[in-house]
Amino acid sequence: MKKYTEVPWMVLESMPECVCFDTPEGKENLFTVNVDGYYCCQSTHDAHLIAAAPELLEALEQAETLLADYAADNCECKEGFCKPCAVRDMAEAAIKKAKGE
Ligand SMILES: [Zn+2]
Repeated sequence: MKKYTEVPWMVLESMPECVCFDTPEGKENLFTVNVDGYYCCQSTHDAHLIAAAPELLEALEQAETLLADYAADNCECKEGFCKPCAVRDMAEAAIKKAKGE
């Protein structure tokens, strides 16, 4: 059984205050309203991941800086695949997504 709600999660321009994900029927909100009328996540695993997001972002920003410094000093990847640069690019993309850029 998968732990998290299907990724990617996204913020759509048409619904800028919602976190959505794709379903076979279309976009659905990550947050649902339970029987008591409170908003809650699709799963407990989603809730833990969202709660960790600020710390994850802080850690990733620092890791991205370290990787960029490492690449500047050591990388000779003018051609071909380079793991440190690929990971740095992933980090940059995730940071931009987290900041809505
Ligand atoms: Zn490189």
